[in-house]
Amino acid sequence: AVEILGSINVDIIAALANLPRPGETVLARSTEKLPGGKGANQAVAASRFGADTYMIGAVGKDGDGVWMRSILETDGVHLLPVDVASGTPTGMAYIALDAAGENQIIVAPGANMAITADAIGGAAPDARVFLAQLEVPIEAIAAFFNPDRVGHGLRLLNCAPAIPEARALFADTDILILNQTELAEYAELDTVNGVDDALAARQLITRDDQSIVVTLGAGGSCVVRRNSHCHAPAVKVVPVDTIGAGDCFVGALAALLDEGARLEDALPIANAAAAQATQVAGGVPSMPMRAMIDEMLAE
Ligand code: ADP
Repeated sequence: AVEILGSINVDIIAALANLPRPGETVLARSTEKLPGGKGANQAVAASRFGADTYMIGAVGKDGDGVWMRSILETDGVHLLPVDVASGTPTGMAYIALDAAGENQIIVAPGANMAITADAIGGAAPDARVFLAQLEVPIEAIAAFFNPDRVGHGLRLLNCAPAIPEARALFADTDILILNQTELAEYAELDTVNGVDDALAARQLITRDDQSIVVTLGAGGSCVVRRNSHCHAPAVKVVPVDTIGAGDCFVGALAALLDEGARLEDALPIANAAAAQATQVAGGVPSMPMRAMIDEMLAE
């Protein structure tokens, strides 16, 4: 099984001709309310990819919370809910999307930031893969990844969004997953563009048995180890909406590793899943079913 600790958000997506400048008011062409949050997106991706999926997460005692719980349940995610104080709202992400697909995002974390280390109990039954992102408190992730708690399980940290304090978690992680922007921030580079630049991930490695996966957008993804690396090119698509592509990649990867796949063999499959996620709008709604990806790869 895959156990995830992560965020649950409601995404309010406004489609605009141009993103607003400071002080400017713009009219949206349309708005949509869709389920999201990196944790929830990755949990649905893992579940649709066939993994028995548990998620530790928090929502507010409000209508959005009821809605998000039902979304996760419908997709077979076993939510292990963390109780938060009444009046703490469900996390919200306000996403402005322009005609060229560029976005600006404001996240109001609400209940997600109320998850304490004490709220993390024992590991879920049969969990082999433990996955977290950085939209919940670092102390809670440290408790979730505690070696005594996870035993021989594989710990995956998606270092998104990039938060400098999260470096403290790296030593207790087996696989770090970052996109190019996040790697540039942690490695203190101006930009990271492609596989050669991604080798800079080596400076984040704290142990010989650690791997770093760098997602390269239209360049696919690569795994970087201390003495080797391996690149898996992307599936060629014209993206419709890249929201959720990174989360799809991470959730699918977690499910594949839970099945016992080698990282090198899992990357091309996770790339195909993420490419498919760019073809559908939103976070949760864009996650593909495993059968569809297997068919795509068999063609
Ligand atoms: P994020 O969505 O977090 O910014 P990336 O842009 O690296 O992360 O995308 C994550 C994954 O989604 C990539 O590794 C790739 O497999 C897939 N992907 C993203 N953009 C494209 C694209 N334009 N064409 C094909 N695949 C893509």
